[in-house]
Amino acid sequence: MTKSAILILLGPPGAGKGTQARMLEEKFGLVQLSTGDLLRAAVAAGTEAGKEAQAVMSAGGLVSDEIVLAILKDRMAEPDTQKGVILDGFPRTAGQAEALDDLLAAQGQSIGAAISLDVDDAAMVERVSGRYTCANCGEGYHDSFKQPAVAGVCDKCGSTEFKRRADDNAETVSARLESYHAQTAPLITYYEGKGVLSRVDAMGEIDRVAADLAAIVTQVTD
Ligand code: ADP
Ligand code: ADP
Ligand code: ZN
Repeated sequence: MTKSAILILLGPPGAGKGTQARMLEEKFGLVQLSTGDLLRAAVAAGTEAGKEAQAVMSAGGLVSDEIVLAILKDRMAEPDTQKGVILDGFPRTAGQAEALDDLLAAQGQSIGAAISLDVDDAAMVERVSGRYTCANCGEGYHDSFKQPAVAGVCDKCGSTEFKRRADDNAETVSARLESYHAQTAPLITYYEGKGVLSRVDAMGEIDRVAADLAAIVTQVTD
């Protein structure tokens, strides 16, 4: 890989961004950067930003660009991101997309690909409602679609502790879906205009989607 790859995964909650980002991390040596994970860490740490973010997240809204950008910039400044990053859940607003362009331009970098994971709204509710993760390593699972090989034991790390997100409930999900359509979906057109957009049918099985993504990522990292 000559230049560090900057990849964006766009898609509504439950599209499979986190699942696919982890698979791309393993396959291509990129680093997953999830603003949702970073915000949940800030909430858990009880920082000022975390306190402000918590109420918005539990209502299914979008955290302010100011907070999200501050958290993202700090993370992008860490050395491991030099290998290239998969932005999972960022940007989510036009303001964030423009700020990302400025940040990358200042570092002489640019976006390799923005990939939209396309799913039906109905599927996304089902995916989010059945989602849980390993409490130790963060591997994602689903009640129906992705169970551990041995029931109750994480495939990746052997932990027997799992957790569910407080915001993965029916009411919050519809608010999050609204935020997606109103504020994030327009970014598909934005990246199309820049000539970096790819679309992947994310209704297929996890491995099928992963194969489609790998084909795109191989092109931009070669
Ligand atoms: P996102 O990060 O976009 O919100 P996740 O990667 O967390 O989405 O996936 C949401 C849930 O759906 C998880 O429980 C995951 O195991 C499951 N999942 C992800 N991709 C697929 C797929 N292609 N088919 C069925 N279930 C999936
Ligand atoms: P999902 O992929 O299921 O939507 P995330 O973990 O990406 O979940 O995000 C969880 C919540 O964190 C969002 O509903 C939103 O409140 C907040 N959040 C995450 N990323 C951003 C962002 N880039 N801008 C604003 N809010 C964000
Ligand atoms: Zn684990």
